[in-house]
Amino acid sequence: MNDQIEKIAELIVSSKRIVVFVGAGLSTESGIPDFRSPGGVWDKYDPEDFYFQNFVSSEASREKYWQMATEMYESMKDAKPNQAHHVLAELEKLGRLDCLITQNIDGLHFKAGNSPEKVLELHGTAMHVTCLSCNKRYERDAIQLRIARGEKAPLCDECAGLLKPATISFGQSMPEWETREAYERSATCDLFIVIGSSLVVQPAANMPVVAHRNGAKLVIVNRDETACDDIADIIVKAQAGTAMAAVLEKVLGALSKMREV
Ligand SMILES: [Zn+2]
Repeated sequence: MNDQIEKIAELIVSSKRIVVFVGAGLSTESGIPDFRSPGGVWDKYDPEDFYFQNFVSSEASREKYWQMATEMYESMKDAKPNQAHHVLAELEKLGRLDCLITQNIDGLHFKAGNSPEKVLELHGTAMHVTCLSCNKRYERDAIQLRIARGEKAPLCDECAGLLKPATISFGQSMPEWETREAYERSATCDLFIVIGSSLVVQPAANMPVVAHRNGAKLVIVNRDETACDDIADIIVKAQAGTAMAAVLEKVLGALSKMREV
């Protein structure tokens, strides 16, 4: 594995446009469960209840949705970024990050110090709530307080529209700007690094393919096999935190050597 770590560090130092793509595996080390995995929240509830169409059309669905969303939020609101998040924030500080495409909704990249301009949240964020009618944005904690006081499916205080966490639900379209931007960055980078995603959910699975097809080197750091292993230049099968901390150490070493020369 050391060999691979060394090679990844070399690529990070020599590449001009680095795109990092992350999935749930990055946040499990922060204690946030992969909600889609067995035993996760999805197992306890019927996903049918959480289709966007049902949320919009049925009060009962909305109440169930908020119940589940509240449970999910409880597990992430106080979570702290782990080593891997910190490494990604460090890469930005070093000027080595073109953008960070994330499937995570936990806001941990910002807690670690990445700036909003660098992060594309493909599945939205659980840290805010939006009104489906007027788009007014609320802090999540403020709405959770209303839920704790007994509201079951809160409404917008401006227009009485339906309030929903700013995450992308089943049946809800992907955020247009973020998705387009993510594809464009994938197509124009020279290094694409996947961390903590098995790359089975679309459009995630597509982005490394787009990058690879346009000549970028493809690096995958994931505990298990991924759908893109066959086209990857370097694969590290490990926990994100440990592997990325080792990579950063090599990068810092190489950069300080370059400064000495
Ligand atoms: Zn509204």
